[in-house]
Parts: sequence; C-alpha cells; structure tokens
Amino acid sequence: MDGATPNTQSPVLILLGPPGAGKGTQARMLQDQFGLVQLSTGDLLRAAVAAGTDAGKAAQSVMAAGGLVSDDIVINILRDRLGDDDVAAGIILDGFPRTAAQAEALDTLLAEQGQSISAVVSLEVDDAAMVDRISGRYTCANCGEGFHDTFKQPVEAGKCDSCGSEEFKRRADDNAATVASRLEAYHAETAPLIAYYGAQGNLQSVPAMGAIDDIAQALQQIVRSA
Ligand code: AMP
Repeated sequence: MDGATPNTQSPVLILLGPPGAGKGTQARMLQDQFGLVQLSTGDLLRAAVAAGTDAGKAAQSVMAAGGLVSDDIVINILRDRLGDDDVAAGIILDGFPRTAAQAEALDTLLAEQGQSISAVVSLEVDDAAMVDRISGRYTCANCGEGFHDTFKQPVEAGKCDSCGSEEFKRRADDNAATVASRLEAYHAETAPLIAYYGAQGNLQSVPAMGAIDDIAQALQQIVRSA
C-alpha cells in the first residue's frame, strides 16, 4: 500500500463469551445487517481440518478433546484471513482472541493494517445452560443457519427456514463431555480477557440469556455507535 494513503478505520468488533453464548448466531446476523465479515477461528480451523492441511492435522485432536489449539496455529490462520480483500468492509471476530497472547497478537495485526478494535462485547450467560444449548444444536449444511432440537426447530420439519435445504449437520465437538472441557478452557484462558479489554475502556456487556432478536438489537446499537 502507498504509505501516503491514509487508512480508513473499518468496524472491528470482538464477541466474547463461552461456547453456546450465541457468538456465531449473532455474528451471522450482524454480517447480514451491516455487511461486516464474520471471522470465526473455529470455522477456519474446521476448514483446515477438512482440507487436511498441516495446521488442520495438528488442530484436529485438540479440537475433538475441547482444548485450545496453539496460539501460533490460530494466529497464523487469522493473519492469512485478514489479508483477504473482503475483510476491508469490517469484521466481527467470533471465537478469537481466546488467550492473552492472541489478544496481543491481534492488536499488532490490526495496527499493521492501520486498524484498531472498535468494540468488544461480552455476551453474559449462565454456564449451567450452555451444555443444553450446545448439545442440541445443529446447522443447515447448505447455508449455515443455526437450529436447535429444543429451542429452534425449522418451521417445516426437516427443511431449512432460510434456504430450503434438507441437509443438516452437527459438530463433532458439540457433545456433553467435550463441552465441559471447552467451558473449562474458556474460564481458564478466555474469561480473563474481559478484564483486559475492560481496562482498555472498550468493553460492553450484553445480557445474552434472552430472545435472540433482543440480543441482536443490543448488538446493532453497539455497531451503529462504534
Ligand atoms: P468454536 O467454533 O469457536 O467453538 O471453536 C471450536 C474449537 O476450535 C475450539 O474448541 C478450539 O479447540 C478451537 N479454536 C477455535 N478458535 C480458537 C482460538 N482462538 N484459539 C484456540 N483454539 C481455538
């Protein structure tokens, strides 16, 4: 890039919260509403596993056990994705950063692009409810729309509300045993980032046990004023 050209700040939103808090659902809605790009390191890692890359091979067993993939692998994957043209419109980070080292790396990566964090949202949920939320969830295999055995079944049984596809998929790590490890990793490594961003002054907390649309409205407000 020409050094004389001023960089313009695009929205950079971080969604923090334990597995099952609704980060992915809300990120997808913001993507549709504001044209921002959802960047989920979980999705990028699952794609790497499916493609059989070296990073994917290293990540696969860690993900299956509900642990955290190494910072090096995750930061490299994110750095590559941030180099793509489509992210210039602004991004919603879903599932990254998850450690203090990742948070520091993110600051550096954004600074290299003349960007900085616009807002960090902590989705506040009750841990006890997360196991039920995660254990029953599945997505449309075609468009990624999220559903749940108890909380959100398709209007027409077996057919995606969004695109009409009849194929659905469940994540291998969305089972009760793995969820316990994922929650543990969240509390040990990721929850401390709430204080980290709080100290930087750009943290906002949103109660996230209620209706999806109410939570979405709160997030829309935050994006509009970011
Ligand atoms: P998610 O789709 O965000 O629930 O992530 C699924 C799994 O991918 C996690 O349980 C971790 O094993 C791995 N993962 C995703 N994002 C990260 C990250 N930022 N740091 C470390 N591991 C990650």
